[in-house]
Amino acid sequence: MKLGDVEFHIVSAGHFRLDGGAMFGVIPRPMWERKIPPDGRNRITLSMNCLLILAGGKRILVETGAGDKMSPKLRDIYALEGPALADGLRAYGLRPEDIDIVVNTHLHFDHCGGNTRVEKDKVVPVFPNARYVVQRGEYDHAMRPNERDRASYFPENFAPIFEAGMLSLVDGDQTIASGVELIRVPGHTADMQCVKLSGGGKTAFSFADLVPTTAHLPLPWIMGYDLYPMTTLENKKRWIPEVVREGYIALFGHGTRVPAAYLRERDGQWEPEPVAID
Ligand SMILES: [Zn+2]
Repeated sequence: MKLGDVEFHIVSAGHFRLDGGAMFGVIPRPMWERKIPPDGRNRITLSMNCLLILAGGKRILVETGAGDKMSPKLRDIYALEGPALADGLRAYGLRPEDIDIVVNTHLHFDHCGGNTRVEKDKVVPVFPNARYVVQRGEYDHAMRPNERDRASYFPENFAPIFEAGMLSLVDGDQTIASGVELIRVPGHTADMQCVKLSGGGKTAFSFADLVPTTAHLPLPWIMGYDLYPMTTLENKKRWIPEVVREGYIALFGHGTRVPAAYLRERDGQWEPEPVAID
């Protein structure tokens, strides 16, 4: 998909499963199970959709999936499966060393586990020539998680990046390449960032975990994981109407059947109209 001089692709880092109830917060199971049916352990399957962006002479990767450092026990709990991110990049002729910038929208394991890998008992960066861009507030929180969200933060996914001097901490909105903008959108965490791509008069907006799948489009469908659900609500009211009104391509980081769509308003509801990206 090309937006003027900005080219982007969706690259899969596989999929995993999370508790369906936790994924839909206050929404009762009889409602959400019609949209995404759970397995025998009440889990729903979620994709880990990364973005490969070629813009301003830079090769940018947004999100790195869960990576391959998890213990067998955790791999079972989260049912980690599917293609490796490196295979997806290879399909575009890219090796990990070719990536210039890695963006983590936030530091939960399903977004940054692929930042690092184990090499001879040492955890090292997967993308040796990249600078990794994260909101400063998110990094500070990830290093001191609370009792409610510490299960989502694994220091080996980001501390070695900081120690290697490869972490670029930003405060608020930031343009990282021509047509590639990071926008701080709190709610899921205090300092999550979304990604806006624009060129040739067209725009794509990656919701990150503000709207993780198309099933989360209705306003009250907010994840139980969100630290600030009322802020998520405010930001859904801010961003979804803009995406609809301006005709942006919406990108869903955890969408399995619909990773990208135009959004249309019909009978007071937002409906996705899937877009093929590659
Ligand atoms: Zn997520």
